[in-house]
Amino acid sequence: MDFISTRRLSKPLCASEAILKGLADDGGLYVPSEFPSMVHLDMRNISSYPEFAFEVLAPFFKEDKYLNNEDIAAICMDAFNFPVPLVQNNELQSTLELFHGPTAAFKDFGARFLASTMEKLIQKQNRKLTILVATSGDTGGAVAAAFHGKKGIDVKVLYPKGRVSARQQKQLTVWGDNISAYEVDGTFDDCQKMVKDAFMDKELSEKWGLSSANSINLGRLLPQTVYYVYSSYLYKALYGKNPSFIIPSGNVGNSCGAYWAFTMGAPIDSVILAVNANTTIPDYLESGEYKPRQSIATLANAMDVGAPSNMERLFDLYGDIDLFRKMVKSWSVDDETIKSTIKETYENENYIICPHTACAQRVRLDHFKDSPTIVVSTAHPAKFETIVEPLIGKTVEIPENLKELLNKESHFISVGKDYHEIF
Ligand SMILES: *Cc1c(COP(=O)(O)O)cnc(C)c1O
Repeated sequence: MDFISTRRLSKPLCASEAILKGLADDGGLYVPSEFPSMVHLDMRNISSYPEFAFEVLAPFFKEDKYLNNEDIAAICMDAFNFPVPLVQNNELQSTLELFHGPTAAFKDFGARFLASTMEKLIQKQNRKLTILVATSGDTGGAVAAAFHGKKGIDVKVLYPKGRVSARQQKQLTVWGDNISAYEVDGTFDDCQKMVKDAFMDKELSEKWGLSSANSINLGRLLPQTVYYVYSSYLYKALYGKNPSFIIPSGNVGNSCGAYWAFTMGAPIDSVILAVNANTTIPDYLESGEYKPRQSIATLANAMDVGAPSNMERLFDLYGDIDLFRKMVKSWSVDDETIKSTIKETYENENYIICPHTACAQRVRLDHFKDSPTIVVSTAHPAKFETIVEPLIGKTVEIPENLKELLNKESHFISVGKDYHEIF
């Protein structure tokens, strides 16, 4: 299958090539030239999540230059080695828990699929790669965990000193081996600039085989379609109805996966974006004018995005504002309401949610109380214990996967703001 740039000025590539490339030469993002249909899927013939993932993903790699079906099956087995439970809250309402991976957030799906795919690809091409990633917290942890131990790939993670939480820092610095963590004496923007400068340095970039793993990479998007196809089929089999998904959104990579699943014919009623006080998308729906902006800091900090990087993919699907309004619904939830929703959900349902999930939960309670909905839970509440614990008045139990990681020793290298210091 061909993947084309949203800007249509770069030549089409197969999935493997698009994954290794990241951003297209014309500055656009890769999208499938056509969407495979999933209407034939029969849950009864499938026994495990990795098997299901293979069924969804294999068509995207049809006639791929480097990876065959056997490779894709092996990648799915390796990447999706943790549970993906759909928890029932009441008769019509469920929660899809995407936080059972090694770093307890949904980014594990994309990062692990990307890491396994890249490892396979460079083995076949007999070359080496260096992944360079700047992080304000969560992404770097998922990427470091996913690439740890991958052969032929080194990872350099840059994070701003004093600006990531203690638990986030652990997730960046405990790995060792092929993962190096750099604590930059500066801001997240400084870290991003160092990465950008390193990529611009053609000689260095060639020598180290620099590559990125950020959220616009096709290799992170594709696996984020799988759990929407999977859970909508599961929901339909259990309750006989097509669910709507309510998704805590920032860069809209996760929700783009849901729109792709919808386009592929999965039994989905609608897709709803819950955002925090960063209201770029609800404002666009209201005014019809798209105005990206600086982000503002909120309690749901992984969604603090003012210029969502995957919007270009949503515009590619639903460019016309009337169509966009028909397909995309979005509500904003402020910090005070995030807090009261965490409290209310614990008191009423005895269920503890993270600040990101709380945005989606609020949208459900306010607008979809009597509809078949799946709230997408993007992180384990134990990752945000300093916010959640005072609200519910008790400690959040740390899941095993996270506990193991928090007990390991940290290693990092302190650097200034010059990218030469990390090579
Ligand atoms: C990254 C992240 C989000 C936002 O996902 P996008 O794909 O950027 O929309 C939501 N919740 C958590 C916990 C995250 O880490």
